[in-house]
Amino acid sequence: MKIIEVNFITSGVKLSQYPEDALPEIALAGRSNVGKSSLINAMINRKKMAHTSSKPGKTQTINFFSVNNKVMFADVPGYGYAKVSKVQRAAWGRMLESYFTKREPLRSVIQIVDLRHAPSQDDVSMYRFLKHHNIPVIIVATKADKITKGHWQKHLKVVKQTLNVLPSDPVILFSSETKVGRDELWGEIMRRVSD
Ligand code: GDP
Repeated sequence: MKIIEVNFITSGVKLSQYPEDALPEIALAGRSNVGKSSLINAMINRKKMAHTSSKPGKTQTINFFSVNNKVMFADVPGYGYAKVSKVQRAAWGRMLESYFTKREPLRSVIQIVDLRHAPSQDDVSMYRFLKHHNIPVIIVATKADKITKGHWQKHLKVVKQTLNVLPSDPVILFSSETKVGRDELWGEIMRRVSD
């Protein structure tokens, strides 16, 4: 994918604040610190467009970026950060629930997990929630550069089995360092936004 233009559009916490722009949308979700910002930056060839989180769990808005005026990326705040209060967690839950269930332009969610470890209970809950609402998901297992190539398939299998990934949802191995998986992920995104 040749990146010609990336624009930060807006941030918001409720439906009325999200862009009205009719671009098809792809949301990115994952546990705090999983490598979501790095993945977004790798996808759009930018160093700091999405902010890598110095304070995990702090970014509580959904941030919207348009790419090549063809697709909208919605960067959803990371989940599973232990130091978030119950009140914050509940607000986050409501925001996500309304975003995922009511956001009309949403085509697919990229759910990011860490290839090195079995998906957490939060990862499993997120995937179940998305499937419960019939939202197409692309699972991306990132930080692949931290695992030797010979072990990639074994780790992918653990990811697929733990999440109980449906055959219709692809699982893509990725690294923001080496960019492995970048072209494959762009292929999946473009296929889903041009349908
Ligand atoms: P976020 O909280 O999910 O947005 O995670 P970040 O993108 O801020 O990444 C968390 C940490 O993991 C940072 O120190 C990144 O440099 C590191 N990281 C993210 N992706 C990769 C990757 O693909 N490979 C390696 N080796 N490190 C990564």
